[in-house]
Amino acid sequence: MCGIVGVVSAEREVPSLLYRSLRKLEYRGYDSVGIATIGSAVKVIKRVGGVNEIENLMQGLGGKTGIGHTRWATHGEVNERNAHPHFDCTGKIAVVHNGIIENFSEIREFLSERGHTLISETDTEVIAHLIEDELSSGLNLLESVRRALLKLKGSYAIAVIYEEEPSKIVCARKESPLLIGIGNGENYCSSDYVALLPYTKEFIVLNDGEMAEITPHSCKVFRIDTGEEVKKEKTIMDWKPEQARRNGYEHFMLKEIMEQPMVISNSLRIPRKELKEAVDVIASSEYIYVVGAGSSYHASLGMEYLLTNLGGMRAKAIISSEFENYSPRGLEDSVVLCVTQSGETADTLKAAKISKRRGATVLAMTNLVGSSITRISDHTIYMRAGPEVGVAATKTFTTQLALMSLLSIEVSYNRGEITNSERTELEVELRSIPRKTSSLLKGLKDLRNLSRRLIDRKSFYFLGTSIGLVTALEGALKLKEIAYVHAEGYPMGESKHGPIALVEDGFPVIVVDHGDEKERIEYGVMEMASRGAEIVVVSPREIKGESLIKTPEVSPILSPVIQVVPLQLFAYYSAVERGLNPDRPRNLAKSVTVL
Ligand code: GLU
Repeated sequence: MCGIVGVVSAEREVPSLLYRSLRKLEYRGYDSVGIATIGSAVKVIKRVGGVNEIENLMQGLGGKTGIGHTRWATHGEVNERNAHPHFDCTGKIAVVHNGIIENFSEIREFLSERGHTLISETDTEVIAHLIEDELSSGLNLLESVRRALLKLKGSYAIAVIYEEEPSKIVCARKESPLLIGIGNGENYCSSDYVALLPYTKEFIVLNDGEMAEITPHSCKVFRIDTGEEVKKEKTIMDWKPEQARRNGYEHFMLKEIMEQPMVISNSLRIPRKELKEAVDVIASSEYIYVVGAGSSYHASLGMEYLLTNLGGMRAKAIISSEFENYSPRGLEDSVVLCVTQSGETADTLKAAKISKRRGATVLAMTNLVGSSITRISDHTIYMRAGPEVGVAATKTFTTQLALMSLLSIEVSYNRGEITNSERTELEVELRSIPRKTSSLLKGLKDLRNLSRRLIDRKSFYFLGTSIGLVTALEGALKLKEIAYVHAEGYPMGESKHGPIALVEDGFPVIVVDHGDEKERIEYGVMEMASRGAEIVVVSPREIKGESLIKTPEVSPILSPVIQVVPLQLFAYYSAVERGLNPDRPRNLAKSVTVL
């Protein structure tokens, strides 16, 4: 999730304007930073690290047209070569990009055959060379960009400048955000309003599949597929800067909950090679241990379930801090998958080191390219969720689970446990989850009332069976973390072995019905209801006489990816209703780097 910006001005030099905007976009990524401008020729500066790395390098850059980028790496290491802007062979075309080009390997091959030399490991660089290819057949920049875009699969927001058409930026979007700012004698484009609010309040929002040609005095929008011009309305945006940084949402947590449809699709765009390496390693091993802490541990339990039930494997999830005690001494025949959003969780890093010492092959799943876990592990799978600012994991949990589902389906197929058509069916369903999550999110307004109704309750149970347990555990953790309410998640069948002793009139019990085992679930609900519990069921179907949070139908084994979403929102509203700031829960840190 990078941040991009472009400025084209009649009068002013743009480097300092780009710099100022990039500082506002830094929340979208801070792996590396780069600016390219056109004065008499294209000039570029790039540095590894945050935006301030280029603060003192802009003298002498000049130019009245320019683009800038702050990177959150998805393809290729964090280094200067992979930093944006990326160029074609002539160095005259510069491109910044936010998103993932799925078919970049095929395009790289195609471009090499046509004599192009690519110098970075990114997916982005292919865009510059594709444009170069189109320009060489005599087209202008706008049409060349359009034709290049038609060859891309995946997501993008891009901004392009070209030395031969100097007072112009061509930009486009598909599934990554992009807006155009309208100024006086200058125009802009950016991933986010926040970057442009210092210059203008007038915006044109590009829709997916649209592109624009911006000059200092004009802005024209076109459809990418047909090239037809589209008439667009301007929007006036009077957000305060902090509100803009959260994209208009009251808190980062809410923003991050809402962006799950987009990031889940992004994470499922994992490059084939990365996926295949991980699948081969897992499928050919005797045992797999999945290790994580907090939400990552809950996701690990989901992976254990999937590999055991779908893949017929011997899989076990272990909490990172107990890995040393609960894993076998010899791990030569095992794979250990270490799951850590930040890649810096001390307990998980320790588990990875112990695994290596005990002879295991170590796989990592993380959101941060180049983080410590990637250096310890033999292979890494990236979550590609973009930076998560809210302390409580939301989008990183669902992207972990989505990727784990994909991995497990592939492993199960590879091991001959499911047929090719079962595999396709499950993967199609998995890829429909972003769309279903999006419609689910639109219908969840009532959750605020639910959290109001339950505001005086001191303790909650979250119950589930089978893979629904993963959702229940995570739902309880969210509520505990940000609303400071005691909440316990456990398997439904366990109630009668102790926990039910606490249940009395009005005791709130959230039941996760993952869409299977209806009788068991209804029985459990009855057991609780007959002791006076106030029951809320999260379910894709009607469950007798209980208040229901309806979730879209998906195959039960994929259910946690979508069913956890209302529970995240419930926790969020419970915190807000109690006057708490969900972005900064007390005593917690985003990345726990101590043992
Ligand atoms: N895929 C590009 C890169 O790795 C852009 C990353 C993003 O926007 O998340 O550089």
